[in-house]
Amino acid sequence: CSVIMARQEHGISRKLMSPNALRTLYRLKENGFLGYLVGGCVRDLLLGREPKDFDVVTNATPGEVKRMFRNCRLVGRRFRLAHIHFQDEIIEVATFRSLAANEPEPEPKEASGSDHRQRPPQMLKDDDGMILRDNVYGTPEEDALRRDFTINALSYNIADFSIIDYTGGLADLNAGIIRTIGDPAGRFQEDPVRMLRAVRFAAQLAFTIEENTLKALVAATDTIVRAAAPRLYEEMLKLFLSGEGATCYGLLRQTGLFAALFPDFSSWLGAESEGFPHARFGEMLSYVDSRIQQGDKVSPPLLLALLFGEYIDGKTAHFRQQGAPWQQSVNAAVAEFMGETCPIIMISNRVGLALRDIISQQMRLKKIPGRRPESFIARPDFNDIVEYCRATCGDNKDVVKQLDWWAAQARQQAPVPLPSGVTEE
Ligand code: ATP
Ligand code: MG
Repeated sequence: CSVIMARQEHGISRKLMSPNALRTLYRLKENGFLGYLVGGCVRDLLLGREPKDFDVVTNATPGEVKRMFRNCRLVGRRFRLAHIHFQDEIIEVATFRSLAANEPEPEPKEASGSDHRQRPPQMLKDDDGMILRDNVYGTPEEDALRRDFTINALSYNIADFSIIDYTGGLADLNAGIIRTIGDPAGRFQEDPVRMLRAVRFAAQLAFTIEENTLKALVAATDTIVRAAAPRLYEEMLKLFLSGEGATCYGLLRQTGLFAALFPDFSSWLGAESEGFPHARFGEMLSYVDSRIQQGDKVSPPLLLALLFGEYIDGKTAHFRQQGAPWQQSVNAAVAEFMGETCPIIMISNRVGLALRDIISQQMRLKKIPGRRPESFIARPDFNDIVEYCRATCGDNKDVVKQLDWWAAQARQQAPVPLPSGVTEE
């Protein structure tokens, strides 16, 4: 069953949509297929927020989509998706997915009255003739029901510009509620990352997590470590770079997710050192939030340095006390941090090395001018090194003066534009 909100009842204007997404939808429609916008973009449009990306779903198979668009590439093994390439944007077109496509086993219990289970199994081949799993493709309703939260399961139908709601998402959107579709415990068990998504959407949209959803989440926090470590890394970046990282942290802490994700760091953070609480983490969360809210970018290594730098400095001091030289102590401290974190949240080696450099190059900033300052300024991570120092120095006047000196040098050294006709390699 579904609720349909007609064009004149909602405030979504096509002017707010990506022209490329609209082109894609119209092309599907001209060819006799269904074309819906789905997920985050419909939610954001209804809330008057600017969507990050526009996802399209259709009843055309990936092969059929490919034949409709010259600029189309098929990607993905398990579930084929069509990517329509435009000049500066890729529009992802997915075929309605069945519930069976998501889970290893179809759910045994099925509400009577719904008929999609009785459909004959489909044996589908994609463009390359590869046989896809039976029943991979589903109905528009199934495609909505496999999504995570009701507010993320709304679709916008290009045929009549209406909003289709199979899960009560419109009511939850109006009431500001994050609610899983179906049984929350089961949905978090299927995919523990949904717990972090619930926290992020609650923080980003200033919504509340519905009572039963929250209860199931709190009961399942320990299972977050079952999620793949690289996925948890991506999700951690989204949480702390959302512009509402401080609010995310509050919710992660309250629910127990934070302690599950960062067991060692979390207990360090909870303990005082020499009678003082570790306040820098909270300050840095707010600092990153203000940067993001101003529209600045914060690189992943800089984010990690800002959030975990004080913790890593503590480890460095420990190795120093044991007599190791500075650089070696920093290396050992970062290695220890990576060793604790990576089994749960996979920080790549590349990012780990960049984090180490930001921390260890702080010493270099203090040597003015030092040897070959121009090559130091030319480092790709020079801005991150300076930014880290600026964010963590408090109002130490001497350090601020040093940073201003470096900034002035960097301005002088700004790259001169190449003469016309010469292209960079
Ligand atoms: P954002 O603004 O962060 O992009 P989003 O809702 O668009 O938010 P995406 O990660 O881009 O999130 O996912 C697009 C859509 O896919 C979601 O709106 C949701 O319907 C569905 N989805 C994403 N991740 C999951 C998941 N783990 N489980 C079920 N459905 C999901
Ligand atoms: Mg999205």
